[in-house]
Amino acid sequence: CDSLVKIYKTKEVEVLALQGLDLTVNRGELMAIIGKSGSGKSTLMNIVGGLEVPSAGRIIVDGQNLAEFTERQMVQYRKKQIGFVWQKSGRNLFPYLTSLENIEAPMLAIHKSAKKRREKAEELLALVGMEHKRDSYPAQMSGGEQQRVAIARALAKNPKVLLCDEPTGALDYNTGKAVLKLLQNTCRKQGKTVIVITH
Ligand code: ADP
Ligand code: MG
Repeated sequence: CDSLVKIYKTKEVEVLALQGLDLTVNRGELMAIIGKSGSGKSTLMNIVGGLEVPSAGRIIVDGQNLAEFTERQMVQYRKKQIGFVWQKSGRNLFPYLTSLENIEAPMLAIHKSAKKRREKAEELLALVGMEHKRDSYPAQMSGGEQQRVAIARALAKNPKVLLCDEPTGALDYNTGKAVLKLLQNTCRKQGKTVIVITH
């Protein structure tokens, strides 16, 4: 990120959410971002993830200048290159799909074969230690378990970058710590670049 600026304009006011942010995250690095509420953390994530466009400045991901993407390329970028893990389980997992199905879903666009999707989903479930909940629905799991499945789901499309916006924000201290540890270990194993907002 090179001098990133984001201004949100609403009818009455302008909010300066980012005022010239410079940031380099190396490939394979896990970076944690801490900051008080309203300091622009989610704004940064949304820009890196291609959900928001900066008002000024440059953002380059793996050599790609996001400002040069067409709308179509941006959709492909979000779909294939970025994995998201949000604080709220409802934004990570479909309530009416099982753990296994939730992990398979993002692969529909990538692996044609159902057998391959299943194999990969089972592998990822094992990676996050949730094999025993393969047929459970989100409502049948604890918050920490849901976030483990959410991490597996985010990794399913083999993204270049994993963006986690307060993934432990709704968890108690110890559960949150375990989820962060899992994130750290799995991403190190898979050589993923991770940005995680935490507090
Ligand atoms: P954080 O994630 O660090 O709490 P945010 O990035 O969500 O901070 O917000 C930064 C600032 O931008 C806040 O003042 C917030 O109110 C404002 N903001 C965020 N999103 C919008 C939006 N879509 N429209 C207007 N203002 C916004
Ligand atoms: Mg936020």
